[in-house]
Amino acid sequence: MTHTNIDPLEIEKFQSIASRWWDRESEFKPLHDINPLRVDYILQHAGDLTGKKILDIGCGGGILAEALAENGAIVTGIDMAEMSLKVAKMHLHESGYDIDYQKIPVEEFARDNTAEFDVVTCLEMLEHVPDPASIVNAAASMLKPDGDLFFSTINRNPKAFALAIIGAEYVLNMLPKGTHEYKKFIKPSELARVVRANRLDVIDTTGMTYNPITKHYKLGSDIDVNYLMYCKAL
Ligand code: SAH
Repeated sequence: MTHTNIDPLEIEKFQSIASRWWDRESEFKPLHDINPLRVDYILQHAGDLTGKKILDIGCGGGILAEALAENGAIVTGIDMAEMSLKVAKMHLHESGYDIDYQKIPVEEFARDNTAEFDVVTCLEMLEHVPDPASIVNAAASMLKPDGDLFFSTINRNPKAFALAIIGAEYVLNMLPKGTHEYKKFIKPSELARVVRANRLDVIDTTGMTYNPITKHYKLGSDIDVNYLMYCKAL
């Protein structure tokens, strides 16, 4: 297998800060802060997660994976950053959840997991891979019929550049400089096109906005910068 859909520089960025995944005041603060919102969004659309098999693609230190386990799901998390997975596994000793963490490329994992999962989540990850369409294709193939698929990423337009890169990385210092690359941002229309090409329907697209004055995030109709997309098998 020569095809790899992994950018080593992206993985290195996460490796170098992996020890801080569970530090709520660290670079990962934004992910901790948005986590309840995205878990609510998943529950709202996928319903009760008790006993459901969920795959979390690009799970990192397990912030989302643990919240899904907390809601009764049987969770598998995959990522390519070894240190992040070590931290994720260590944190299970603290939280007591049972999550299957594996370091394996998404496409390779997909080959042995056709139609295995009730829910697949892939949040804040597509904008870090060379070929996001290949991740969408792999994710779709792992869904059971009637399964639910969730993505989140960042839109590509001048406002997204201003807020997600200049604002978050340079003005507010919420994220390390270089976390995001403008050209890797994905318009909702582009993601929707790839989703539909994989025989999935886009059921909902919801925006996530940050108010720098109140320091609060909220979900709403403004998809100009951060957004979530909920998809289902046709
Ligand atoms: N999904 C998590 C973490 C988002 S950070 C959350 O939302 O809380 C992005 C994650 O994607 C990092 O953990 C990084 O290691 C992972 N990642 C980046 N490129 C990847 C690839 N090609 N394959 C698997 N994981 C990848």
